[in-house]
Amino acid sequence: MNIIKKRILEDGKSLPGGILKVDSFLNHQLDPNLMMDIARSFAEKLAGKPINKIVTIEASGIAPAIMLGYVMQLPVVFVKKKVPKTMENMLVRDVHSFTKDRVYTVSISSDFLTSDDHIVFVDDFLAYGNAARGIIDLCAQSGSTIEAMCFVIEKGFQGGGDALRAEGYDVESLAIIDSLDDCKITFR
Ligand code: 5GP
Repeated sequence: MNIIKKRILEDGKSLPGGILKVDSFLNHQLDPNLMMDIARSFAEKLAGKPINKIVTIEASGIAPAIMLGYVMQLPVVFVKKKVPKTMENMLVRDVHSFTKDRVYTVSISSDFLTSDDHIVFVDDFLAYGNAARGIIDLCAQSGSTIEAMCFVIEKGFQGGGDALRAEGYDVESLAIIDSLDDCKITFR
């Protein structure tokens, strides 16, 4: 069993509604050693790909992404969950939030995502894939290429990962959960 699955079983809490609470090590309090292990695992999966930039989305994707940036010695850019008034050249797109059940606007400066970029998208969770779809759209707007998408935890029963794989995306998840029924965690 890999280190993230072990940690989920030790410290994760399955909540009603298909939500996994991991705020003691991933979403609120952070474990830097675990983040480094996550980054090294991602880097192994990405070996040989022509990636020049890491893209994540605030807030919980930033910790694993910055560690991956350190390991791979690549710049990291995070997509903002609002549109800053002071910035020009913003690429924008609406995304539905699974955990908050509302629509928010994500944005990234076209200064930091261009047609020269070959990116890996990193996030904490993959559920229905709405955040990932937002990133796909921002990359299409910028002309950049998605080489892979890396997630710490994929909730396989919500289908986002399998849909993206069926479309040809390289989706890498360190732990895939197939069920949270009866608040019990079952891995694929
Ligand atoms: P998606 O857009 O793939 O439907 O959902 C992914 C986003 O929703 C992630 O960025 C993550 O922040 C949040 N999310 C989805 N499911 C969970 C969950 O079970 N627990 C937590 N903590 N966040 C989740």
